[in-house]
This record gives sequence, C-alpha cells and structure tokens, in this order.
Amino acid sequence: MAGKVLRRAAKAAAAGFLHYSGVRKAMAAYRRSQSGGRRILIVSYHRVVSDFTGELQRSIPGLLISQETFRRHLEQAHAAGFELASIGDAVDVMAGRRAAKKDLFVVTFDDGYRDVYRYAYPVLKQMGVPAITYLPTAFINTDKRFNHDRLFHLLRCVQERRFRPDYDTMPGPSVQLLGPILTGSKTVSAALDDFIGEHPTRVLTGIIDSLEQQLGGGADLVPEQGDVMNWDEVRQMARDGFEFGAHTLGHTVLTLEPTEVVEKEIVESKQTIEREVGIQVKDFAYCNGWYSDEMIRVLNQNGFRSGVTTEDLPNRVGGDPFALKRKVMWENFSLGMMGDYSSTLTVCQFDDCFGVLGMNHPVLGHRPHLLTQTSGTANVLVQEAAAAEAALAKATPVDVVDVTTPVIVTEPMVAAAAAGAQVVVASNVALAPEAAQPEELQ
Ligand SMILES: [Zn+2]
Repeated sequence: MAGKVLRRAAKAAAAGFLHYSGVRKAMAAYRRSQSGGRRILIVSYHRVVSDFTGELQRSIPGLLISQETFRRHLEQAHAAGFELASIGDAVDVMAGRRAAKKDLFVVTFDDGYRDVYRYAYPVLKQMGVPAITYLPTAFINTDKRFNHDRLFHLLRCVQERRFRPDYDTMPGPSVQLLGPILTGSKTVSAALDDFIGEHPTRVLTGIIDSLEQQLGGGADLVPEQGDVMNWDEVRQMARDGFEFGAHTLGHTVLTLEPTEVVEKEIVESKQTIEREVGIQVKDFAYCNGWYSDEMIRVLNQNGFRSGVTTEDLPNRVGGDPFALKRKVMWENFSLGMMGDYSSTLTVCQFDDCFGVLGMNHPVLGHRPHLLTQTSGTANVLVQEAAAAEAALAKATPVDVVDVTTPVIVTEPMVAAAAAGAQVVVASNVALAPEAAQPEELQ
C-alpha cells in the first residue's frame, strides 16, 4: 500500500512539473502525431455517485467517481481543447470518413448502473455532452446485482461479523480470497481484485452461494447499492439523444465461451435493446475488457461498427474499430498529493503523460479464442499460446480439464493435445470489474 501511495505522490509531483514546464503539451503533441493527426481519447466510467466518501464505505472503490469530479473531468476536457464527441464520431475519424478539428474525448459508461441515470445524465444533459452506456440486458429492469458487487458486500459482512467460514463446503480457492482478509493482511477490495482476475465466474458464484448460506441468508446479504437502470430510464435518456450499446446478456466474459454462446449473448443483447428502446445498436463493450478474433467476427456479421476494450493505450487513425482503447476512470485518478482534486494531474492523465513515460502498465484484453467444437463435451481451450495455435488447431478433440488457477500452455502440453492425448487447460478467467486497473487496487 505504501508503494501505491508513493506512486500516486510521484505522479502528482510529476504532473506539476510536466504541466508548468510545457512538457505536457509536448507529450500531447507527440501522442497526436503518433495517432495520425488527432488524439481519440475514449474514457470509461461505471458509477457516478453523489456521496463518494459514504459510498466508499460499502462499494468497490475503482467503480466510483463523485458527481463533482465527473463534472470537472468534462469541464477540463473541454478547457484542454478536446471536442466532447460520440463513439460514432470517433469511429468515423479513425476510419478517415470524418476530419476532426480537435482531439476527441468520448464518454462511455459500462454496466448500466442506475447512478448513471441519477447523477451523470443530468450533468451530461446540462453540458450538452454526448455519451454511450453499455448494457448487460439480462440485468436491466431487474433487482439483480452483479457478482463482483455481491461478493464485495458478502466479504464485508464476513469481516464485520468476524465470521469464520467453513472452507470444507466452499470452492477450493476460497481460502485464497478469505484468508488474507480475515488475517487483515489485505483489504477486501485488494483481495477481491487479486482474486477476481484469476478465477472463473462459476468459482465466484460458488463462493457467493456458500457464503450466503453460511451467513444465514436474509435480504441484508444482498447489497442495496449497485442497482441498474430500468427500461423507462434507458428510454428517457435515449429520447435526449444518449446512445446505448450492448454488453452481453448476463455480463459474460465471452472469450471462454463456445461460438453459440458468443452469438447468443451478442445478438440477443443487441436485439433486446433495439426492441425495448427503439434505437439501432451498433456498439459493443467487452466484459472484463477481454476480446477475441472470434468475437470480432460475430460482431462484424451482426451489424456492429465498434467494440471497446479497457486497454489503456492510444487509439490511432486507421486502427481497428473493434479494438478501441479506453482509459478507465475513477475518483482517485484525479487525486493530488494532498488527496484533493488536482487539475494538473487530471489533464496530465488525459494527455497520457504517464503512458508516454512508461508509468502506466496497460492490461491487454486480446485473448486467443481457440475453441474446437465437437460432438458431446469435447472442447479444447487454450490461453497464452499464440505460437501453438496452429498445432492445436489440428489436435484431436479431447476432454476438457478445467483448472481454476492460471495455466500457461507449454509446448509439451500442446504436443500432447496434438497427439490426441488427454488435455487441456485453462482459465484464468473471471468477471473482474472492468475497473480493475486503478493503481490503488492493483
Ligand atoms: Zn461490465
């Protein structure tokens, strides 16, 4: 933790120097020339809240930004010379169909939290700023909460009640999550963040079910916060010109799903929004920021024009519209050394100074989607094995061996698969919230 605080202080200090020395503008110019003339900055938010400090006590920090800081971001982007543009504008500029007079700044929201309707929508409307919200449609108009929010809430209950879970009835890796929290060596958000990036959804739901049962059930085990919009709220925003994109049906990380699931989640989420709202849906956000060539193929075939990742890298003119880079924002993105809002830090972040300096470590979302379909249950699923893809494509289909810890596929394993032996592999998959990169959470 001390290291993170130091890192933040270093960024805040550097921001002052970069800004006042003029280096920041030089860096922005460098990024602009790299991007092919204009910078196209797409930013991602989740929950915009009225009481950040209060919400921080009960919610995953990296998903939160206060309404006031959100407003300042928009004002500052405008003051820094960005055009606050739509996702369609960004795609057109990247494709060379539209010339941009200024750098572009595109506001996006993931997951359709009701906070966006309550606290972001009025600000956007008042300021005339376009935005797109990506909806996991099976959640919209329901009381359901996302797994990451449910688990966070349950872990806080465990902590507050000093509850000792019975690991024997829980999924194997549970102790990795709960142990450090119960011994006080990690905060709930840090432990959850480390865990969620390494384990598949079904491990998370297994832990949720088991903890709910062990804690005796009851309505207070489901978080009150984290509610999503209903269709009336979506329609109201759409009437004011705000756009909506698809984000699967069930907030599903699709890189590990077979083709029929990929198609269903993509096509039906698009159709649902179009039917409910009466708009055309052409844009998609990858859950967890993870995407594959297979997913891009399905998007392309079904009338989509773009897909957004959570890769914190510059977009370039001529770049792939189905691998749009985004900067994930939350409150601490703008916090200076004293813990207050820092406009110099914010503008340095917008100008990607820390990316130019190599101080950011973007997490890449592209994953192999190698999924050999066969009759029955056989799938071969491989990660981190780009070099071995060709060999595996020829492999005799084999049984799936699920593992819950990350596996790097090695050449000997691939050889075994190719020989038709038993195999494989892989899942360091999960539904991490897309905001999993903020430095306090890493
Ligand atoms: Zn999401």
